[in-house]
Amino acid sequence: AARLQLRGVQKAFGETEVLAGVDLQVHEGEFVSILGPSGAGKSTLFQLLIGGIRPDGGTIHFDRAPLHNGTARFAFMPQRDALMPWRRILDNTTLGLEVQGMDRRAARAKVAPLFAEFGLQGFERHYPAQLSGGMRQRAALLRTIVQDRDMLLLDEPFGALDALTRAAMQRWLQTMWKRHRWTALLVTHDVREAVFLSDRIYVLSPRPARVLHEFHVPLPRP
Ligand code: ADP
Ligand code: ADP
Repeated sequence: AARLQLRGVQKAFGETEVLAGVDLQVHEGEFVSILGPSGAGKSTLFQLLIGGIRPDGGTIHFDRAPLHNGTARFAFMPQRDALMPWRRILDNTTLGLEVQGMDRRAARAKVAPLFAEFGLQGFERHYPAQLSGGMRQRAALLRTIVQDRDMLLLDEPFGALDALTRAAMQRWLQTMWKRHRWTALLVTHDVREAVFLSDRIYVLSPRPARVLHEFHVPLPRP
């Protein structure tokens, strides 16, 4: 059974119809991408999952229960500005755990062993401005995954990076995903990124968005 299931989800802001009935699902351990042009409504979809806005029509279920009954299930990684400039990298990566109520000592003990795998070893006491863009995004992803939520939501996580760093980050994320099998939903307008990273892709129409195509990525994973 699908973990996340959207059926006929509609959303308008005033006169602006943004989602015209979106159907999609994400299964356990799947990496799914939503591919669509700018302004198609990709961020609006994420707002429906985590931002407290309700659909005007249709349903959203998680593990068969209506989503709006509140439990936080998603760990969200934004496109940029995820890190607080005045906190050291270590204390940025503990932030999600601290928000969940874990004390900082315990949170540090949980994130510290992951620094090497995220290419951040030795940078624990640096501030975000002292790191490269790729390192900052890896720190943001570390903060996101360490929260042990049911699903990872990635909103154009590499969209603000230069092309070479972006390519390196995509390869790194693919390696990480193969190792950890996070259940993930990525929104992007980068076709190659979606094909490279995903098991399955939904292609949205321009606004008002509906799903134009759904396809499984046929490339075998080595
Ligand atoms: P995408 O993420 O695919 O670029 P968005 O979901 O951000 O698209 O936006 C889709 C459309 O919805 C845009 O035209 C945007 O102006 C509109 N929109 C998004 N949020 C709001 C809002 N809170 N109020 C009014 N219009 C909005
Ligand atoms: P990116 O992912 O942005 O291309 P990398 O993380 O691959 O950058 O950089 C490779 C190594 O270079 C890092 O692991 C780090 O040791 C070092 N490095 C990168 N940027 C900086 C920086 N701004 N300050 C100090 N060392 C850096």
